[in-house]
Amino acid sequence: MVSASMLQSAGFECQKYHTTLGNLNKDNCMFKKILIANRGEIAVRIVRACSEMGITSAAIYTDADRHALHVKKADEAYNIGSDPVQGYLNAHNIVNLAVAAGCDALHPGYGFLSENPVLSDICAKRGVKFIGPNPDVITQMGDKIQARNAMIGAGIPCVPGSEGNLEDVEEARKLAAEIGYPVMLKATNGGGGRGIRRCDNEKELLSNYDRVISEASKAFGKPEVFLEKCVVNPRHIEVQILADSHGNVIHLFERDCSIQRRNQKLIEIAPSPQLSQAQRDYIGTLGVKAAKAVGYENAGTVEFLLDQDNRFYFMEMNTRLQVEHTVTETITGIDIVQEQIRIAYGHELQYKQEEVKFRGYAMEYRINAEDPKNGFLPSFGKITRYYAPGGPGVRIDAAMYSGYTIPPYFDSMCAKLTVWALDWPSVVERGRRALDDMVVYGVKTTIPYYQEIMKHPDFKAATFDTSFVEMHPELTEYTTKLPPELFAAAIAAAIAAHEGI
Ligand code: ADP
Ligand code: ADP
Ligand code: MG
Repeated sequence: MVSASMLQSAGFECQKYHTTLGNLNKDNCMFKKILIANRGEIAVRIVRACSEMGITSAAIYTDADRHALHVKKADEAYNIGSDPVQGYLNAHNIVNLAVAAGCDALHPGYGFLSENPVLSDICAKRGVKFIGPNPDVITQMGDKIQARNAMIGAGIPCVPGSEGNLEDVEEARKLAAEIGYPVMLKATNGGGGRGIRRCDNEKELLSNYDRVISEASKAFGKPEVFLEKCVVNPRHIEVQILADSHGNVIHLFERDCSIQRRNQKLIEIAPSPQLSQAQRDYIGTLGVKAAKAVGYENAGTVEFLLDQDNRFYFMEMNTRLQVEHTVTETITGIDIVQEQIRIAYGHELQYKQEEVKFRGYAMEYRINAEDPKNGFLPSFGKITRYYAPGGPGVRIDAAMYSGYTIPPYFDSMCAKLTVWALDWPSVVERGRRALDDMVVYGVKTTIPYYQEIMKHPDFKAATFDTSFVEMHPELTEYTTKLPPELFAAAIAAAIAAHEGI
């Protein structure tokens, strides 16, 4: 573990950038330069944290990202190759660059190598502090079977399921018959909602088995799969954890991520409008217990399912910053990225559990370049016009600007809109208003679809579970406004037709 004093004795100069940040960096000791091993909105988010802490930020980019926002915003930017994606996945190359550029720490963001223990391991060996947990914890929690077994050992409730990876389809059949349908077949090393299939009977299990193995091999490079009982129409409730290197672990309350499509989150809310205070206290405590059980360090998320009888079950732990961390920041006022950096440096947590408070509700919308009317097909291309929403309680984390061309090689999420208000009805109205404010022309987005969700009585009444999106296909039947340039062209065409030109 690198501590502030060790860094000092290793000859790191600590004071240069921090003389004006007395309160933030109490002993004037902080990293000097952080390499951001990511792209898009999360790289921009990390640049912002670095800037506020007086730390130099170094971005990486591939040729396809030459004009990306994170490259423009960072203090330094390094090209890491011509292949659009591979550069972001080459751990050796990235750490070599970090060393050559004089970076004393590396932030992995989410996705890419963030949950790959190899990156964390190489960083440790090369003397670049990895802003996240150690490789052993990443390995253990990245394997959903190992994670489940660790939690069962710690007395955390888990849904019934496999004790190890499934050997063959026959084992899957036997186990499913034992625990009862419906069951979920899941990629052991999965993430991002991929490699998961619900099986309602034996026939579906037999036909899905090879499919999940093939999805797991393709998406995660590992064919292992396991099986667990399907919790019918659950709510997805997750707990944000902060753990320092001195053994202090706190939670920053929960998020409700039940609005999902195909196991991928679309809208996230903090705190959950569907929990009582007693349930909130219980799940927060359980999240801390889970993190302590595996000796967790840095920011992490413990994900649970809440069933229709109000029982919680551990699902998985994400050992990184999460997309939806913004809602937690908004209700607590705590900057999670800055806390990650401070923890990695060796500082103690700034807050005790009882000092962490929340106020109101925050809701985040993942603005994806997708066409909801066309099966959410990705819609990449040039943003001809972009106007960010504003006004009270509105936050934008975006990777786009007017004139930017969204490359087709990456995730379709191009912005996150986060809104805050004092109570549930107000946050729903504020979200609707901010979505209405936001202008993105040139590509199709999920904005109009979210506007429909905001008007739905069940959503307004805060009664929804992970089946909401699937149960309401009619919400994609909206009409969109024409962009002004197309509107003008349509009027001109109508006039021309009328005048018989
Ligand atoms: P979060 O877990 O932060 O709510 P997601 O599950 O949507 O968000 O993941 C964020 C990004 O990371 C997505 O681009 C997703 O595809 C990617 N991702 C998540 N887990 C993995 C994984 N195990 N392997 C590869 N990519 C992943
Ligand atoms: P990922 O690593 O891809 O995020 P998770 O294990 O977190 O995968 O599951 C993603 C989503 O799939 C959950 O939020 C939930 O909606 C659904 N899901 C996963 N496991 C179950 C289960 N046993 N029962 C019901 N739904 C599940
Ligand atoms: Mg998950």
